[in-house]
Amino acid sequence: MRARARARLSSPAPLGLDLATPEPVPAEGIAAATALLTSGRLFRYAEAGVGASEAALWEQEFAAYLGRRYAVAVNSCGSAMYLALHCLGVQTGESVLMNAWTLSPVPGAVAHVGAHAVLVDTTADLTIDLADLERRARAHRGSVLLLSHMRGHVADMAAVRDVCETFDLRLVEDCAHSLGAAWDGVATGTQGLLGCFSTQAYKHLNSGEGGVLATDDDDLAARAILASGSYALYEQHASRPPLERLATLAPSEANHSMRLTSIAAAVLRPQLRALPARIEAWNARYTVLAEGLSLVPRVTLPRRPPQEQFVGSSLQFSLDLPPSSIERCCAVAASLGVHVKWFGGERPHAFTSTYRHWSATARNTLPDTDDVLAGLCDIRVPTALPLDRCADVVAILRHAVQTQVEPTTADP
Ligand SMILES: *Cc1c(COP(=O)(O)O)cnc(C)c1O
Repeated sequence: MRARARARLSSPAPLGLDLATPEPVPAEGIAAATALLTSGRLFRYAEAGVGASEAALWEQEFAAYLGRRYAVAVNSCGSAMYLALHCLGVQTGESVLMNAWTLSPVPGAVAHVGAHAVLVDTTADLTIDLADLERRARAHRGSVLLLSHMRGHVADMAAVRDVCETFDLRLVEDCAHSLGAAWDGVATGTQGLLGCFSTQAYKHLNSGEGGVLATDDDDLAARAILASGSYALYEQHASRPPLERLATLAPSEANHSMRLTSIAAAVLRPQLRALPARIEAWNARYTVLAEGLSLVPRVTLPRRPPQEQFVGSSLQFSLDLPPSSIERCCAVAASLGVHVKWFGGERPHAFTSTYRHWSATARNTLPDTDDVLAGLCDIRVPTALPLDRCADVVAILRHAVQTQVEPTTADP
């Protein structure tokens, strides 16, 4: 009896792969960065006499990729979200609606403009709860919705846009995890007035730090360029509204010094060209992992509707186990080389926190979101994980869950 229980729980071999390393910079990007280091032109603006900077070219290429008229490169997605709220004229004390399930730079951006975050519930499928959104939109008519496509989960955007129209919400999208994703063929970041993207090392493109703000609106683009810190050198942007708009608005915008360095832009440009191949690699791995995990007892994966064209750079699942068991399950997986993040922990850990940990936000409590977060787990899906090793990740996770389900204490 004992031998059989042991055999069933015999541990898979450790994975032996480093899955925590971000995506590397292609050789082309390294060469471009090296050339910049040699030239000393690390700043995106020049006093005189040079062609378009790497940053200007990056913005132009990013806008073309996304299908928006303008892109403004900044030093983080947090800065992009702050500038979006600033350019929309959000004032101190105003309310900004946002997802309860997202990362801390989102309430941080709301705090940065001095606004007040109104948290909206999350469904079991990990998107914004439309009924709760409608309730809160009715109470905060005319405010801004800062919508995170958290971990790349895209809500029914036709329904979200309906709510926004009905209650005069201005939509800003946080696409930190959804570059390349779409709803019903419309890219995330182009659904509202402004889209905010991250190029921090663990997002879809890696420049260490970086962000992009995208819009079709002349005045918002002009304000964002000026506020990001263009001095009187905004003419050096290749992706920009007519100079007259910039000149007219310049006296009313402060310089917030949130520029992207040219060196970051130089490493990003070839990565954008490689993005379609990267997306294919992520999605192939996601499919194998999701199929394998969906067969593990106590594990539930969120439903993803066919209109959601997602990028599977990470995978979320819910564990139907008590908190202490989830903690032990994560420890077993980690000991075998698979790092599982858990959103139900009492304390913030690494990048993972929940709304209960954010100091700057409104403290509206959300029991439905709490239920979702209690079992919610998350793994990265790096391209460094070979396709034929995905089954090993599934085996390790299955084993980790099993150690918490099997009646090991019944052993004599
Ligand atoms: C990473 C992240 C951000 C912030 O991006 P930074 O570039 O690090 O400021 C915002 N929202 C979500 C959902 C993120 O995952």
